[in-house]
This record gives sequence, C-alpha cells and structure tokens, in this order.
Amino acid sequence: MKQNKIQSEKRMVCNGCGKEILMENSIVKEDYFAATHSFGYFSKTDGTQVSFRLCEDCFRAMLKQFKIPAKEIEKTELC
Ligand SMILES: [Zn+2]
Repeated sequence: MKQNKIQSEKRMVCNGCGKEILMENSIVKEDYFAATHSFGYFSKTDGTQVSFRLCEDCFRAMLKQFKIPAKEIEKTELC
C-alpha cells in the first residue's frame, strides 16, 4: 500500500503523553487543548514561539499543578 504523506502529517499527538489524538477524515474526534504563544521583547526567550497540544488527561494533570485553580465556567448552552 502506498503511504499517504499528507495524512501522516495531519496526525496529531499529545505533547504531554505522546498519545494520538483521535481523528477521522481530518476531523478531530476528541477534544484537546492547544496553545501557541510568541514570547515578546520583555521575555528571556524573546522571539521564540512555543506551541503544544495536550489531551484532556494531560491538560487536567497540568491544571492540578496550579497553586491558584484555573477559572472554570460551566457552559450549559453551546454558542
Ligand atoms: Zn496526553
């Protein structure tokens, strides 16, 4: 079978645990956290862009390490 390069590039993994984020026909079937941040002038790492993805488990584990809990609002309606 011929390897589909485009599809393999669209494969997404969690940076925390390396678990593959479930996808079907390029549509994400599992919720995950994604962040991209560019550090600016006042940073020690000026000009560095950092981006990562976390599965829900890793994201929850990260929140547990916070001294001040993250703000959580339960949304009953999707908008
Ligand atoms: Zn993970």
